[in-house]
Amino acid sequence: MAAPWRDVLRDEAAVREAARVAVDAALLGGVLMRTEGEPNASDVVNYAPFTLLPSAVPSALFDQAYAVQRDFNLLVDTISQNKEFLEHTLASTIKVDDFTARLFRIHMQVLEEGLAQSVFLGINRSDYMFDCGADGTPALKQIEINTIAASFGGLTSRTAAVHGQVLKVLGKSEEALRLLPNNPSKGLALGIAKAWELYGSQSAVVMFLVEEVQRNIFDQRCIENELWNRNIRVIRKRFRDVFEKGSLDDAKRLYMDGQEVAVVYYREGYVPTNYDQQNWEARLLLERSRAVKCPDIATQLAGTKKVQQELSRPGTLERLLPGRPEAVARMRATFAGLYSLDVGEEGDKIAAMAIADPDRFVLKPQREGGGNNLYGEELRQVLEKIRDSPERTSYILMDKIKPQPAKNYLLRAHSPLRVSECISELGIFGVYVRQGKEMVMNEAAGHLLRTKAIEHADGGVAAGVAVLDTPYLV
Ligand code: ADP
Ligand code: MG
Repeated sequence: MAAPWRDVLRDEAAVREAARVAVDAALLGGVLMRTEGEPNASDVVNYAPFTLLPSAVPSALFDQAYAVQRDFNLLVDTISQNKEFLEHTLASTIKVDDFTARLFRIHMQVLEEGLAQSVFLGINRSDYMFDCGADGTPALKQIEINTIAASFGGLTSRTAAVHGQVLKVLGKSEEALRLLPNNPSKGLALGIAKAWELYGSQSAVVMFLVEEVQRNIFDQRCIENELWNRNIRVIRKRFRDVFEKGSLDDAKRLYMDGQEVAVVYYREGYVPTNYDQQNWEARLLLERSRAVKCPDIATQLAGTKKVQQELSRPGTLERLLPGRPEAVARMRATFAGLYSLDVGEEGDKIAAMAIADPDRFVLKPQREGGGNNLYGEELRQVLEKIRDSPERTSYILMDKIKPQPAKNYLLRAHSPLRVSECISELGIFGVYVRQGKEMVMNEAAGHLLRTKAIEHADGGVAAGVAVLDTPYLV
């Protein structure tokens, strides 16, 4: 890939000066995070980590990622309504993975009772890396789709301005003009607002369901503020609050403290540590309600790694989306090799293949949030240990994507300024609204570029590994 900032990177004094400007611009522009020491107070805040320079992204791949987003929205929504597909696909996983099993039980319980919800809102983020082929040509390969609590749509709306200023300071005004505007928080808020409107109660509120530890609150505030600007009331509550104060009336309308809730936007509930017994009960109450859940539990399940792996099987996309061969082809073009480790001959072969050549693969459990995947020697050891046990079905195997690294500076509070070899991951935000059977909104809402040093195999921005970035199209 092109290295547009080679000359800049050589001038250490200019880089230092630009880094000082960059940090202040980030603070001034609201690229903020609460601190590790005080994650639940805004008295002390810092800038969210970001790259000094925007990273080069091939414009054809960037366009390709945008062009396929509405297909992925449709696919996720279709899977969420396909009880048999979810049941069949997750059957082996829920035998060994407690977390997925619990989500699945709630899904089944809600279906048996009959869905009270009739408006559906999906906010997802499809993530990609640029795989460098043998001839050096990069290809867009999907890492995963996040169907719950996909974050950084807010803060990333503010990074392009920071990078624009940095480029100007470095004498690159023309390049600065080429940075694309990007505002996912606005697009996501439009989806929430549409769902709120279709729910049809002027006095009802939007509830952000938030974690106990709220370091990334400013990212969420970006979306909240867009809603307040549209005169939609937003409340922030935790599972614990729902357990204590949430209730349903006879028509399964959801009330919090006497306030009717139209939309529940989850920024919580995606990992096992988010749940104790009370929180599971709160989740069930929310899922049973008429309120628009973003996502509903079926859509969360549609985002599991096991579903992703099954989608890559020949014929699966075609069965799920009959009569849409173009959409199917667009999506399939972004798939990396994915393999089932289910018990049986196919799984035995795959396990043996990975043990023999671990550097070709990534081993993934059914978890979100970064830091869970296994690589290289660790992958080999774990897989050897569980190769003859059903436990292996809680994982899937994926071809390892190998992007071309580029030099950049990762700016992090309290960290020394030094150059790193980096790779990037591009995410496209999708938003859609369905009323009954009818799609009333289906959009790509903006993008997120995250960059990390190559020595870290895994981990996102929240995990302290990746940093926010802005694509510079080449
Ligand atoms: P999570 O749900 O924890 O975010 P991901 O599938 O997104 O799981 O993986 C986490 C990180 O691991 C990614 O952001 C990426 O950096 C790395 N990763 C995941 N899959 C691959 C892959 N196939 N090849 C290379 N790196 C990968
Ligand atoms: Mg991820």
